[in-house]
Amino acid sequence: MRLHEPLSNWTTMRIGGPAEMFFEPHKPEFLADLLTALEKDGVPWTLLGGGANTVAPDGGIPGAVIHTGNMRRLFRDGNGLRVWPGVTLPSLVRSAQGLGLSGVEELVGVPGHVGGALAMNAGSAEWGIWDQVEEVVLWSPGAVNEEDGLKFRTWSPKEIQPAYRQGNLGGRVVLEALLNLEESSPLVVKATQDDFLKRKNRSQPVRLTSAGCAFKNPSGESAGRLIDQAGLKGHQVGGVKVSDIHANFLVNEGGATAADVRQMLAEIEQAVQGRFGISLERELAVIPEPL
Ligand SMILES: Cc1cc2nc3c(=O)[nH]c(=O)nc-3n(C[C@H](O)[C@H](O)[C@H](O)COP(=O)(O)OP(=O)(O)OC[C@H]3O[C@@H](n4cnc5c(N)ncnc54)[C@H](O)[C@@H]3O)c2cc1C
Repeated sequence: MRLHEPLSNWTTMRIGGPAEMFFEPHKPEFLADLLTALEKDGVPWTLLGGGANTVAPDGGIPGAVIHTGNMRRLFRDGNGLRVWPGVTLPSLVRSAQGLGLSGVEELVGVPGHVGGALAMNAGSAEWGIWDQVEEVVLWSPGAVNEEDGLKFRTWSPKEIQPAYRQGNLGGRVVLEALLNLEESSPLVVKATQDDFLKRKNRSQPVRLTSAGCAFKNPSGESAGRLIDQAGLKGHQVGGVKVSDIHANFLVNEGGATAADVRQMLAEIEQAVQGRFGISLERELAVIPEPL
């Protein structure tokens, strides 16, 4: 455990003050024990994966921040892959390709960890990682599973009901997941990945400092198009700018703060509401400032 770890080092947007306590468990069992102990002692905790969808507060996070980055194991299980929550999406995509397993090609070029991806149901407009989930092991706050006295158990996607960019975990924590993939060939999987990557590189500011899409796409619409047509491409608040390449990406131009991001999100919401009468829903996980 480390004290006062700067969260700007652990988020892709490079924003965030210190975590009071910063834990990096090496195994899902240790993560479960840690969560149970923190809960018992009344210590607030926050889960952090790759920080690729998170805006951490300027004032830092009191209590414990648990980073999943040391839980990186991945096992072949039939046609599927059993993955720990800290497996990075690039390594998941690489492993599936190497094994000739098809199903997660659309995650190519997406940063983050499997746990964070399941929490957000990461993917594209038409597909999310939950489409491949066979089962998931979750730690639950509060209640204990009556059958075995444990705070974690295996859940099916049917019980969770994930939706577009919404893992619906209800405060539960991903300890492990079994992804259902289809046998293919490494070359075919690679060709599909290359195709997705080309499209992504053409349309998104993948090399700039961002946290991915700021808003979810409203039904039948594109949040990027609405923001662009509201005249906000290139708009800047402090160190945060609406990307010139894709208006749904907010880029840290240098020295951006969480306050800048919150201000920018509010301005975009107001402009799109005013121009189109549409309320945008945030995709970014913006953690509130400490009291
Ligand atoms: C350049 C770029 C491109 C991107 N492209 C895409 C894209 O194409 N599609 C897409 O969907 N997203 C995209 N994103 C956003 C981001 O990569 C995904 O949302 C990713 O899944 C976030 O994973 P993470 O581990 O970084 O999550 P984090 O930001 O660390 O966390 C996100 C949420 O998940 C929770 N969480 C983390 N781990 C766990 C766990 N084990 N159990 C329960 N909850 C947990 C956190 O508490 C937080 O609420 C992009 C981001 C960038 C920077």
